[in-house]
Amino acid sequence: VKKINIVVIGHAPPAEVEHYRRFIEKAFRYPVEVYARVAYPEKCYVPERGQYDAACVLAKLFEYPGFRVLGIIDVDIFVEGTNFVFGLAARNEQCALVSTYRLRNAQHLFFERMKKEIMHELGHTFGLLHCENECVMRFSNTVFDTDNKPAEFCQACRDKIHEHLR
Ligand SMILES: [Zn+2]
Ligand SMILES: [Zn+2]
Repeated sequence: VKKINIVVIGHAPPAEVEHYRRFIEKAFRYPVEVYARVAYPEKCYVPERGQYDAACVLAKLFEYPGFRVLGIIDVDIFVEGTNFVFGLAARNEQCALVSTYRLRNAQHLFFERMKKEIMHELGHTFGLLHCENECVMRFSNTVFDTDNKPAEFCQACRDKIHEHLR
């Protein structure tokens, strides 16, 4: 059976992770399991920046089984050339990573923001690129961008996911 496995890296509270788990199950219609809770991969920590290298953490996720693997990390992550990223995924590959770190600053918006970034990063694993429509695949550089996009795929992206899975 095709399952999406969540790997919790660090200390995201179990109740919160359960919330994501149910949300992902609804949004993608695959069974979703919290597969493992693991320590931060110390080799991915970059002390000069006080952040974790997102590509390094993402690479770790490939060690876990699953039709898709979503890492949820609660520390700050970056990719080369950025100050930080909300998440990272390799397009058409099975792993995606989302960080709670930059989204947590406004409690009432936090879950809505996480939902969008989770959908967005998992969207990449289903072959989606960034999208200019009213769509969760719009690129976000700031939490304002995140707040201003819907928590949904546009019809075009939905069609692409179906095509990708065919
Ligand atoms: Zn993206
Ligand atoms: Zn779209």
